[in-house]
Amino acid sequence: MKAYNPEMHTAEHVLNQTMVRLFGCNRSFSNHLERKKSKCDYHFERALTSDEEQMINDKVNAVLQQHDDVTEEVLPRTKAAQLFDLDKLPDASGEEIRIVRVGDYDACPCIGEHVANTKEVGEFVLGSTSYDEGVLRIRFKLKRPQLV
Ligand SMILES: [Zn+2]
Repeated sequence: MKAYNPEMHTAEHVLNQTMVRLFGCNRSFSNHLERKKSKCDYHFERALTSDEEQMINDKVNAVLQQHDDVTEEVLPRTKAAQLFDLDKLPDASGEEIRIVRVGDYDACPCIGEHVANTKEVGEFVLGSTSYDEGVLRIRFKLKRPQLV
């Protein structure tokens, strides 16, 4: 895995849950996360309005600013399968499934690396979005927290 970025990846969890809550869509089916900028793709019916873009940006930041702990829990696969969609996990993920929680806001099975608390993520900055043939693409950056 090249230049893995736990901050970006944790922001992706919060963005995905925000999209699920605001629009009732599924979590992103594809993403490209880099240290400087990232993008997530969603199956969607239409383009977003600028008001909706602002709403997403504000909601993600409101969650990040709660300074929630990011925690992990390991569940047996059979139990995890009752609670979560495991289709996106690699087949080799085994009989124990790691569930990653962002406070009470989000929970999803994930094998990636995350920050310990959302205060480490910094500010979420939603960039442009685009829509093409059933796919909504959201681009975003992070402004790092200033370490004083
Ligand atoms: Zn993750």
